[in-house]
Amino acid sequence: MKVTKFGGSSLANAEQLKKVLNIVKTDANRKFIVVSAPGKEHSDDQKLTDILIAYHDAYVTGAPLNDIQDSIINRFKTIIESLELSQKLLDTIINNIKGLAHLPIENNPFLYDAFLASGEDNNAKLIAEYFRNNGIKARYLNPGVAGLMVSSEPQNARILPASYDKMEKLKEYDGILVIPGFFGITKDGQICTFSRGGSDITGSLIAAAISADLYENFTDVDGIFAAHPGVVKKPHSIKKLTYKEMRELAYAGFTVLHDEALIPAYRGRVPLVIKNTNNPDHPGTKIVLDRSTDKNPVVGISGDDRFISINMSKYLMNREVGFGRKVLQILEDLHIRWEHMPTGIDDLSIVIREREMTPIKEKEILTYLTHNLEVDEVSVTKNLSIIMIVGENMKSHVGVTAAATKALSENKINITMISQGSSEVSVMFVVDSKDEKKAIKALYQAFFN
Ligand code: ASP
Repeated sequence: MKVTKFGGSSLANAEQLKKVLNIVKTDANRKFIVVSAPGKEHSDDQKLTDILIAYHDAYVTGAPLNDIQDSIINRFKTIIESLELSQKLLDTIINNIKGLAHLPIENNPFLYDAFLASGEDNNAKLIAEYFRNNGIKARYLNPGVAGLMVSSEPQNARILPASYDKMEKLKEYDGILVIPGFFGITKDGQICTFSRGGSDITGSLIAAAISADLYENFTDVDGIFAAHPGVVKKPHSIKKLTYKEMRELAYAGFTVLHDEALIPAYRGRVPLVIKNTNNPDHPGTKIVLDRSTDKNPVVGISGDDRFISINMSKYLMNREVGFGRKVLQILEDLHIRWEHMPTGIDDLSIVIREREMTPIKEKEILTYLTHNLEVDEVSVTKNLSIIMIVGENMKSHVGVTAAATKALSENKINITMISQGSSEVSVMFVVDSKDEKKAIKALYQAFFN
């Protein structure tokens, strides 16, 4: 059994839905279809979810609603008419969209979620009818009925553990189930969404619950590229990578899949494949628990900017018991998440994301380090990027870091910091952001060309 999730660009219009129908028809194991809301038809188009946010904002501020309601309804209407679906379906969708503007505003922390979830929910109803009209025994299933119970954290729902047992029963349904992604139902019956892009999470949760043989995630690219195609010209797509490698790549800029979507499938030991709705014969990228070693120790190279580092030196730092804890304490007190902590004998740097810092927090940290911890020198470096070379096979290869540093030095790129975890899944280089693209290109050249 396969759980198959289609993203917004795969469902943006009638043409795309025809491709989806073919994909579902060609494999009888595709029993669970999880769908997003209609996405962008072209790059300057809007995602339906973004229009629903504007609708919500207009409703709560008392702005006129007619135009925005029409634009939402028309997205569905155009698809319904092109696919010759029923007037009854259109009426249901119209009532649902207009009905959102009758929900209570006061004391309703789930209002925003109800608006957003309607994109996925109505789309699932539409797709179920489209499948039925084309000879597929399909039915729409609301996440509440499916057993997808979540915590009461608006826009940041977490699955409740009891859901897994409930959702396991989905296996007993006959025919194909079309389930809207992105939201679950709280104990009190409220609609509560995951964070943005969360339909990937729904697919992964269902795949884990029913112990699917495969979780297929259909998007608009031929899988995961070994480097960002905006940086490296025509990078190859990766055939197979492990969950750990995917997590490392996703951390530094590979955003094909929602971060949280990896965990349920990984824990449920379900392999995942990223495939292209517009090129379904391409095998895509498979994410597996283990993969046999291949020749190249590196699977991918990612990079991300907007990092800063707080650097400090203190003579005999290594002899001072509790120094590191005190440094981390001030970060905790200021609610700052840190990412990496490269050290020297007498110096330590803490790498954090730029968004974690404010001028006031920065001043407080510098004062604390100078006065309370009596460091000899302290500075903050901005405009940093991290570059990661990723591959589980690095641990059985000698010279990977040497090859990387050689490539960087030949391109006159200064490495500010280097860090490698003991699992040896990745090596991270910190460089000045002006060198980020050059560094990725140089490393791609070194490992893949
Ligand atoms: N439609 C939602 C969003 O745009 C969820 C999703 O597509 O996965 O964030």
